[in-house]
Amino acid sequence: MAGIAKRFVIIGGGPGGTTCATHAARLGAKVTLIERDIVGGAAHLLDCIPSKAMIATGGMMSDMMRASEMGLVAVEAQLDFNALRERINGIENRLETSVSTQLRSQGVNLVEGTGEMTGPNSVKATLKDGSEQHFEADVIVLSTGSRPRIPDWAPIDGERVLTTRHAYPPPELPEHLVVIGSGVTGVEFVHMFSAFGSKVTLVVSRQHVLPYKDPEVAAALEQTFVDREVKLLKGARAERIEVDGPVVRVHCDDGRIATGSHALMAIGSIPNSEELGLDVAGVDSKWGYVQVDHNCLSNVAGVYACGDVSGKLPLSSVASIQGRKIAEHAMGLHQAPHRHIDYQKVASAIFTEPEIADVGLAEADAFAEGRKIRVTKVPFSVSAKALINSDPRGFVKIVSDPLTGVVLGGSIVGQHAAELVSVLALAVTAGLTVTDLVESAFVHPALAEVLGEAAE
Ligand SMILES: Cc1cc2nc3c(=O)[nH]c(=O)nc-3n(C[C@H](O)[C@H](O)[C@H](O)COP(=O)(O)OP(=O)(O)OC[C@H]3O[C@@H](n4cnc5c(N)ncnc54)[C@H](O)[C@@H]3O)c2cc1C
Repeated sequence: MAGIAKRFVIIGGGPGGTTCATHAARLGAKVTLIERDIVGGAAHLLDCIPSKAMIATGGMMSDMMRASEMGLVAVEAQLDFNALRERINGIENRLETSVSTQLRSQGVNLVEGTGEMTGPNSVKATLKDGSEQHFEADVIVLSTGSRPRIPDWAPIDGERVLTTRHAYPPPELPEHLVVIGSGVTGVEFVHMFSAFGSKVTLVVSRQHVLPYKDPEVAAALEQTFVDREVKLLKGARAERIEVDGPVVRVHCDDGRIATGSHALMAIGSIPNSEELGLDVAGVDSKWGYVQVDHNCLSNVAGVYACGDVSGKLPLSSVASIQGRKIAEHAMGLHQAPHRHIDYQKVASAIFTEPEIADVGLAEADAFAEGRKIRVTKVPFSVSAKALINSDPRGFVKIVSDPLTGVVLGGSIVGQHAAELVSVLALAVTAGLTVTDLVESAFVHPALAEVLGEAAE
């Protein structure tokens, strides 16, 4: 094969597919990327970016509400839905242009159409005009993402009963929104709409929100929901939604009913894999998720999957890491086991107020595993910068090895947690110790100083 470029055909142009495409092209592969909608994927158009853009607007509104704490008077904010919609469209257009330009400049062949495998080495693209293009491939990458899970009892109409994909922004500001699902996506929507001034009820199937997060972190978030008069319906499972004129009623399994003007389903996602030709190519899947190993390789040689369709961590950042990994692995680079993706070391954030972020080993998981750990925690109220910013809510918690001092993980609740967690992510990935953090010379005054104090 010397001198002949490897042929990659990538189906799906979200963060996974586009990252894989640019890296494979840089490494000398001949790359075709098939995308049926917009380059940048659901991440840019429907999920990650629009939700964060709305949260940023809501955040500015909340800041303005407490402007008097900063010595400002007569500050008023009113939401203009059309301006917000334009702002979101503007961000999406700029991102799409920037990603497409980058792909084209790397020589990636962008095909607008729907892709499916016709065998373990061949792909068909059906273009918008119904015509077909056929490709032979040495490497096929499945990066088709996922879509909201909709149970058959939810009468989604995009007007009164919404999924997350109808909410950027919705046709009108809900007077009272009932959010079903209290995972990361659900709590972000509660935060966003309560910041805009909607009344919100959250249906929580367990006894606290964020069931897979540190309970102390979840409790801190619940307190802010209580402060904002969000109604929490705990231990309730929604099982029916009834639209009755201007009223939407969410019926729960224990007989309780949450009543509002709109309902929003945020109960997880399902993979886009039904029409990918998995059976034809002999690719194994489970519940629709393509089964892949630590290199994102499926059971079929040359067929990889990344992003949400691979069923690992459903995050844009992870999709990109996997996409890069696939490009390198398929091109014969970085084959050593220590280069495998370690999903435990992925930092993640929840863009609520206060912000929440964590990385690595969680305190509760360490206890569950019977593992000896050292946990240190410092509140932001000790930080000069937090007081200057008039927001001393939250804390930094660091989990380390009691013998070696190696940082194993950490959680941050508070302003800019999503940025600050990068320091802990670097510490966890590089195997740094608490002493390394203590001895780092952070800026003063800065919120990051609390990381050094929490490491003491
Ligand atoms: C409300 C919400 C907020 C989120 N916020 C964050 C966040 O803040 N940070 C974060 O890291 N993650 C966030 N996520 C998760 C993140 O959006 C996903 O993990 C990410 O989009 C997955 O990327 P992907 O590459 O797998 O696919 P996607 O971004 O889903 O893109 C897949 C692409 O494939 C295309 N496609 C599908 N089938 C075909 C086909 N047969 N042929 C051609 N094209 C096809 C689709 O059109 C789409 O463009 C959020 C998710 C949701 C729902």
